[in-house]
Amino acid sequence: MTLRAYGCEQQLLEDLKAETERLEGLFSVTRPDSEIARLNAEGSIVPSADVRDAVGKALDIARETGGALDIALYPLLTEWGFTTGQYQVPGAERIRELLAAADWRQIELSDTALRIAPGMALDLGSLAKGYTADALTARLKAAGVTSALLDLGGNIQAVGTKPDGSSWQIGIRDPQGEGHLGVVSAADMAVVTSGGYERYFTGADGQIYWHILDPATGQPARSGLVSVTVIGRAGWRCDGFSTALFVMGPEKAREHWRQAGDYELVLVTEDGEVIVTDGLAEHFSLSQPDKYTLTVWTRDKVWKHD
Ligand code: ADP
Ligand code: MG
Repeated sequence: MTLRAYGCEQQLLEDLKAETERLEGLFSVTRPDSEIARLNAEGSIVPSADVRDAVGKALDIARETGGALDIALYPLLTEWGFTTGQYQVPGAERIRELLAAADWRQIELSDTALRIAPGMALDLGSLAKGYTADALTARLKAAGVTSALLDLGGNIQAVGTKPDGSSWQIGIRDPQGEGHLGVVSAADMAVVTSGGYERYFTGADGQIYWHILDPATGQPARSGLVSVTVIGRAGWRCDGFSTALFVMGPEKAREHWRQAGDYELVLVTEDGEVIVTDGLAEHFSLSQPDKYTLTVWTRDKVWKHD
């Protein structure tokens, strides 16, 4: 994690670090004393305001995406080894068994209680970084900071502009090689990427298995997309949707983008096409035009550029 802020006291950066650690202490699935770990062990907790808020937001996205984002997939992620590094391809029967218990609709959330069904376990990994970046942004804004760049492991939050008043230039990683695929120019925006290349393993069958699962199958999501970048004001939404749209694939992503209206996209398909939505087209430049073709989506037409 790299936090850069201009025109503020060093103490503010220390506060941001402490806030990040506080939220990690609530959300972490691997720290046994975190709120989420206690929920997973005990089945119910009295949630703190942040856990209630983050789980509520995750459930909103689950509803909005027909369950493509499902924070109840943790037992499956563990079975695949994505949480431990002990990778394996689970058998079909085992996947069926674990999927039966993994259902976000069984999460009960009220002001005073958060409860999960037996056999369930939650993991906020799909949006915790975006949620945290929002909390840090709010603190920076409250302190009057007009220029900061937060990088929470692939979750970028541009607060205000660069110190000289121009937009931040944010590189998007090439999912099929080294370096950048393109650069997004942004101010006061979250730029969040989910990609299959981030965490994966190669099975004995030579296939690549990555850490974003399709809740419909319990298998790594193969939707035709290899990278999804979501650009918008709210970090938690961009983070949640980067994961959900990766699962949903290009057609459904386009449908959702047209209706939502509060974010823009850079998608990379497995056959080397880069798709940019029209609200972003002017603020995006392709770094490797020889390697990728660029398509711009408008709300009514698809333009092909060669
Ligand atoms: P990263 O954490 O690698 O930046 P993401 O924001 O895409 O990337 O989140 C991926 C994480 O979300 C996985 O490591 C896993 O913990 C969890 N996850 C995987 N698939 C799903 C899914 N369909 N719904 C919700 N969470 C998921
Ligand atoms: Mg995400």
